[in-house]
Amino acid sequence: MKRLGIGTGSAMALMALEPLNSFAQNSDNNTNGNHMTYRVQHGTGEKVSLLGFGMMRLPRDNQELVNRLVDYAIEHGVNYFDTAPIYGRGLNEGIVGAALSRHPRDKYFVATKMSNYDEKLWNLEEAKKMYENSFKNLRVDYIDYYLLHGVGQNGMEALENRFLKNGLLDFLVKEREAGRIRHLGFSYHGDVRVFDWLVDHNDKYHWDFVQIQMNFLDWRHASLEKGGWKVDADAEYLYNKLAKAGIQAVIMEPFRGGALSKMPEDCVAQLKAARPNDTVAQWAFRWVSSHPNILTTLSGMNVMEHLVENVATHSPLEPCTPAENELLEKIADTMQGIPTVPCTACAYCMPCPYGVDIPGNFTFYNNAMNNKQLPEKGTPTYAAKHEQFIKEYNKALPIEARANQCMDCEECLKKCPQGIRIPNQLSRINAVLRGR
Ligand code: SF4
Ligand code: SF4
Repeated sequence: MKRLGIGTGSAMALMALEPLNSFAQNSDNNTNGNHMTYRVQHGTGEKVSLLGFGMMRLPRDNQELVNRLVDYAIEHGVNYFDTAPIYGRGLNEGIVGAALSRHPRDKYFVATKMSNYDEKLWNLEEAKKMYENSFKNLRVDYIDYYLLHGVGQNGMEALENRFLKNGLLDFLVKEREAGRIRHLGFSYHGDVRVFDWLVDHNDKYHWDFVQIQMNFLDWRHASLEKGGWKVDADAEYLYNKLAKAGIQAVIMEPFRGGALSKMPEDCVAQLKAARPNDTVAQWAFRWVSSHPNILTTLSGMNVMEHLVENVATHSPLEPCTPAENELLEKIADTMQGIPTVPCTACAYCMPCPYGVDIPGNFTFYNNAMNNKQLPEKGTPTYAAKHEQFIKEYNKALPIEARANQCMDCEECLKKCPQGIRIPNQLSRINAVLRGR
């Protein structure tokens, strides 16, 4: 480190040098009249846009907007589009298929998933129906990137029930051999033993890619148990293990579902001082996309403004410098000291049978925490802050959606990819409201 002139002794700073060196080898000027940065898929040599379009949060009732977003994305070089049969209450694949099929098939890669969380779909024939439906919904006769969806949730037992004992994974491998699936991978959340098992069996399954959650906060701080939540593995571990195994990573949650935009004001000020014209989102994307073993960084974009900004950030990507990486590392350490709830607002836990707006509660609480508006007992400002907190909370959430409506039924627990102990966290919010 000394030899390289890195003063802080930070391994993250060393990591920062790697993307810069490898970046040029992985980038490719495109010939489509735009400046999108591409990565080369190792197996086929195809060029995948470093910005991928996560379609999960698209509106269900505005095909015209979806078409415009897709048209803009394709026109500006984005060619990776990610959906799943369970997104948009089962409607997302169809909406995505309608938008994409207006373009030549060689202009886009489509990624979808086997979302067989429901026990009924552990049966091979039922799971095959979900698989076949994806082709119909997407209006394609091959799928470019197919994933086992959300492995790691509920541990090895769930992996065995969903994919191994029933022969489903063997079936999908055969589908890849037949060419109906071009690349096979999995998306991972939760129990790291499942991730390890699958990567360690790469000789058997030959994963073409793996989708992981990665952002500058989760790089080192995802595995810490804090405030009752627990995620098993840091992105640093996941990313490095994939790189070592020669498997390219697709990144989800580069912006932690928007949560990084709620960072404390003093942290935002430090970023502004370093790059006055950049948004926090641009910092987050540049940090993720600078890593060389990434095929594409997914962003869930449902408004044109975000798409335009993210396209600009990747056209071409300006990789983070070692000094910028150090700044983000410092900010991550500061944020890690704040026990926010690591909710990405994905809404997988919804609907709650008792009407609680789970992501709404966590977003409110995190904002208050990040902006130092949480009432702290024993401080001179407690009474005023407490009163303000209650007032704002009541304004933000209707009675039926509030934390005190939680009946502790635990329906939501198994659905949360972040492993958040949702009822415990809601009760923490409730305690603040009650002044306990
Ligand atoms: S535990 Fe609470 S928040 Fe979760 S589903 Fe049950 S009532 Fe809703
Ligand atoms: S609590 Fe979990 S499942 Fe629910 S929105 Fe947050 S991250 Fe998603």
